[in-house]
Amino acid sequence: MHFNAFTVPDIPLVERGDDLAEIICKNIRLCDHDIVVIASTVVAKAEGRVTPLAAIAPSNRAITIAERNEGDPRVVQAVLDESEDIILESPFLLVKTRNDNICVNAGIDGSNIDSGRIVLLPEDPDGSAKNIREAIFSITAKTVSVIITDTNGRAFRGGQIGVAIGISGITPTRDWRGSRDLFGNVLEVANEAIVDEIAATANLLFGEGSDGTPVVVVRGLDFYVKAEGVRELYFPESDDVVRDALVRG
Ligand code: GDP
Ligand code: MN
Ligand code: MN
Repeated sequence: MHFNAFTVPDIPLVERGDDLAEIICKNIRLCDHDIVVIASTVVAKAEGRVTPLAAIAPSNRAITIAERNEGDPRVVQAVLDESEDIILESPFLLVKTRNDNICVNAGIDGSNIDSGRIVLLPEDPDGSAKNIREAIFSITAKTVSVIITDTNGRAFRGGQIGVAIGISGITPTRDWRGSRDLFGNVLEVANEAIVDEIAATANLLFGEGSDGTPVVVVRGLDFYVKAEGVRELYFPESDDVVRDALVRG
């Protein structure tokens, strides 16, 4: 088994209003069923999801949390504004965003943007992925899968990896349940989160710093299906035992 993964060259600094599909298609010749993986930070920039810190007036609550966590009260306010639910307030803000994505600081990022501004996550990453996939089709007539990623920390382990926060033209998992292992045992649990595995693979090539390579094409792994949305990866509250323990504890 093998596949190829490569960065798309010559992506400019992305600004509000930029057409990412057009930029990508100008710099790479895509094939049917390629997986186009895009760092959320450039999707957010293209969508104008960038806020000057000077425009944020922190509430008393944000000021209190920021003091406790030794953070910037304006960033804390932005996190609160993006969040539907606060799961952990300290030592860092772990929240559920309005898209049901549980992550630290609502994915708000002060890196790869000029100082004094922060990048929020795209408003609707599944919708962004769908729009980009459709725009790529209308430019190239190629049917691709799109994955929008963010770099996240994990519970229980140090270090960060790329995860999928918005997808289109691919299903979140490859379900092995009901199939058999080498010894004929029926698999009962295995439901592989392929979009996170691909996101982590792409993130290896993106880098986190000054590389300027926010788009990776994965070729030779054909997971294309007509499907939308990452949400089935997010536990419903009733099934999320870790969240439950955190909130109760
Ligand atoms: P995140 O994981 O979505 O938060 O994105 P990162 O900040 O880790 O950036 C991922 C990659 O995209 C790195 O190689 C950055 O240098 C690159 N990057 C970020 N913003 C831009 C941009 O506006 N233009 C280009 N060309 N690269 C960018
Ligand atoms: Mn990020
Ligand atoms: Mn990153």
